[in-house]
Amino acid sequence: MPLKEARVSVLDHGFLYGDGIYETMRVYEGVVFMIEEHIRRLEHSAFHIGLNLPKSPDEIKVSIYETLEANGLKDAYLRLTVSRGAGPIGLDPSLCPNPTYFILAEDLKPYPRRFYDEGISAVITKTRRNLKEAINPRIKSLNFLNNILAKIEAIKARADEALMLNHMGHLAEGTVSNIFFVKRENGHRSLCTPSLDCGILEGITRNIVIELARRNDMKLIEGEFTPEDLLSAEEVFLTSTIMEVMPVGKVDEVRYRVGEVTKLLGAEYGKEVAAYVSETKAAGPSIWGYE
Ligand code: PMP
Repeated sequence: MPLKEARVSVLDHGFLYGDGIYETMRVYEGVVFMIEEHIRRLEHSAFHIGLNLPKSPDEIKVSIYETLEANGLKDAYLRLTVSRGAGPIGLDPSLCPNPTYFILAEDLKPYPRRFYDEGISAVITKTRRNLKEAINPRIKSLNFLNNILAKIEAIKARADEALMLNHMGHLAEGTVSNIFFVKRENGHRSLCTPSLDCGILEGITRNIVIELARRNDMKLIEGEFTPEDLLSAEEVFLTSTIMEVMPVGKVDEVRYRVGEVTKLLGAEYGKEVAAYVSETKAAGPSIWGYE
């Protein structure tokens, strides 16, 4: 339906309590990149908040492609949201028997080329990432105030992204991205990224980049890192579905060049996308759930 006609009840618990989950997907040439992984993560998020998804994975897939088709979009941004639904005031999820399900499709507004050439700026914020024993960041939930508070700090500092530490003071993730950096120790270079145990979202782009690093025989360390590890790194980049591999040119007052590891992984990621798109197109419409 047209955006202007779309309505959500003021009693929707997604609105009242941030009680719901979502996925952001990127569409290349009419193909939803990694659609299965996004649906799997949506199911994982739903399970962890005790929400029964109103559709099966196949029905979700069809609804995503139908939205895309109805909007006539080829390179797009998709956001699938499922909230607890409308119900009386109160926290009990059983007050809301019918989840609200909608998909927003928009033309993709890519980040400017300059960002990829020069790198974006970031700051390490005072706002800490949610404790995983409180609201686990592995749940992609509508409850986004933690990230918004960090983003406000970044905006005040005129930085493009906010990087959060966890309660232990270890690096966690950006407000909408995962963190990678290249470290050189005793002449050896390793690619480092906070482990899932640090309390982060298991980024789909992060997983691809880890796989690409392995395929390219890079030494990869998933672990606990301090801000000093990041500030003494040779290269820093962020990953997300929308950013892809985004170089970071500055964290706080420290500057980095867009180095060869970042460039290589950025190029390899591009190839991965291209291969996925051509394989999906070759498989034909049946892969979209249509016959
Ligand atoms: N962390 C957070 C908090 C995010 O919101 C996102 C964006 N979905 C990411 C990491 C990156 O995840 P993905 O690569 O799956 O887009």
